[in-house]
Amino acid sequence: MTSCDTTAMLAYDDALRQLTGGISPIGKKTDLELRAALGAVLAETIESRIDVPGCAMSSMDGYAVNTADLSATGTTTLPLSQRIPAGTAAADLRPGSAARIFTGAPVPAGADAVIMQEQVLAADGSISFEVHPQSGSNIRPAGNDIKSGTRILTEGCRLRAQDIGLAASVGLKTLSVFEPIRVGIFFTGDELVEPGEQLAAHQIYDSNRYTLHGLLTAMGCEVVDLGLVGDSLDETKAAMQLAATRADLVVTSGGVSVGEEDYVRIAIEQLGELRLWRIGIKPGKPLAYGQIDATAFMGLPGNPVSVFATFCLFVCPVIRILQGRGWQKPLPLPLIADFDWPKPDSRREFLRARLTSADDGQTRVQVYPNQDSGVLTSTVWADGFVEIAENQTVAAGDVVNYLPFAQFFG
Ligand code: AMP
Ligand code: MG
Repeated sequence: MTSCDTTAMLAYDDALRQLTGGISPIGKKTDLELRAALGAVLAETIESRIDVPGCAMSSMDGYAVNTADLSATGTTTLPLSQRIPAGTAAADLRPGSAARIFTGAPVPAGADAVIMQEQVLAADGSISFEVHPQSGSNIRPAGNDIKSGTRILTEGCRLRAQDIGLAASVGLKTLSVFEPIRVGIFFTGDELVEPGEQLAAHQIYDSNRYTLHGLLTAMGCEVVDLGLVGDSLDETKAAMQLAATRADLVVTSGGVSVGEEDYVRIAIEQLGELRLWRIGIKPGKPLAYGQIDATAFMGLPGNPVSVFATFCLFVCPVIRILQGRGWQKPLPLPLIADFDWPKPDSRREFLRARLTSADDGQTRVQVYPNQDSGVLTSTVWADGFVEIAENQTVAAGDVVNYLPFAQFFG
């Protein structure tokens, strides 16, 4: 058991660097059928073994011709020599003829353009037209989408619908993915009551459990939910030990301040290694992290907005690294402020914000009027954070950095 109770305020970037520096991927792999792999993290880099499409294909319903057969001026008339629906193999184009062809059908050898059917007069087994298409018109060459040997998906990407579609387009039936990481959660506070139960005036409903469950599920984690734990050292230690044996990461809310009823801090000190930080951010100043045997631990503050914000800022990076995705800080979008923020703060602020379309047609960003860390409504109203540097003020019209929520927990 070791302890490191750092009372000085740690800068956000330093905290993030220290935290992520000590985490490595879990790395357990499994093979999944394509559809089941949606949302999983790819454990292999994939190169295509085929050209897509495999041969030149028509991109129109029309007529395949050889542009050398067309008259330089005036009308060209050509006999029809074959009909090529999609899904059939084509014979070579007979010289001096045209082939009826459909979208997705192979262009016959000897043809170098497809004329749209709307530009052609067809009668008595032949066609006439005035147009003179360029060689290659309305033809998708072999490998137009993907050339054999090209890297199409990279290890560590979280598979989206379009990634799964792309894997299917090169004929893959299964993908090697990382198994979901397991995150154990529990929530401390004798004032908490589960939704659906009777509430006394001195109690509040436990919302953090549901916020965290949703965030973890959205990130593709398997959640081991131990529910509410009372404010006692024994209960907290028992929950911590159980969570640590069943999960790759334990995340809790509440009980990390230095109050007499804050047992998470003491429990982790007794069971493993603790670092307790006061981080220079708002919301979410206290953050505990540490290790119980091989399991990483993160103790979030109790305030519901602090839970949401510290999850985005600190838990997401840790989860991404454990998942094998790696972490890069989201790129901020510079946007014009539609608000004033006249009071500077020595901590970096992450205001709950959303985009608005101003009368001049420009996209601007607004902030929720009540930024109290107990006002969960602000996270529902918002789509992202405005990040305000330490000791900065903002006047409407200034450019500020906007960070969409989806960039963190997608
Ligand atoms: P703590 O960090 O335990 O001192 O809690 C800080 C504040 O967050 C207190 O007002 C708690 O009542 C509140 N809080 C703690 N846990 C939860 C929870 N699971 N759901 C909603 N509010 C909570
Ligand atoms: Mg508490």
